[in-house]
Amino acid sequence: MPGKPTIGIIALQGNFAAHKHAFHRAGAGTRLVHSPEELAGLDALVIPGGESSTMTLLGYENGLWPAVRKMAQAGTPVMGTCAGIIMLAEVLDEEASKVAPLGLLNITVSRNAYGSQVDSFEQSVRLRLDSDERTVPGVFIRAPAITHMVQPTEPFGWLGDEIVAVRKGNVLGLTFHPEMTDDLTVLRHFVGLATK
Ligand code: GLN
Repeated sequence: MPGKPTIGIIALQGNFAAHKHAFHRAGAGTRLVHSPEELAGLDALVIPGGESSTMTLLGYENGLWPAVRKMAQAGTPVMGTCAGIIMLAEVLDEEASKVAPLGLLNITVSRNAYGSQVDSFEQSVRLRLDSDERTVPGVFIRAPAITHMVQPTEPFGWLGDEIVAVRKGNVLGLTFHPEMTDDLTVLRHFVGLATK
């Protein structure tokens, strides 16, 4: 039996506490990450929701983002949710000057694509994980939209016919918040990747 993995959660700003609690429920250990030094020895890493412009400012100041890019390129599982998928994108089609994404997923993302905070919503998302189809609740909070995607990045989640979850090997991105519902499908899947 492999041991319990330790999942790092970037805690510069935003929704890191909810991820921490949800990952504990999904059977993983966690470590909050503020600096490049705190990435050492992690089995996987989560970039939570929040404000990607603030995350950009804080995480380039201390060299965290270049270290995250290196870690992802070396094969460590990395998952970004909401602002986190914005940080993983290649191109942003608005307000690009405030956010410097890492270019780890071959997607173009539009920030705040569904409107402001009051336009946040919960709707079912269809997921394909390990060739299994599942429906999970999707919480969308000032969510981004994926406006363009090219291979080798592939979709694995849909809201109607819109792509809301993508993957490129060990790097996963979701426009919604899987840590904000009781459904642990996505988190358990990620814990599985971190355990391999
Ligand atoms: N709108 C935020 C951004 O642009 C993301 C919102 C979220 O993470 N809940 O960074």
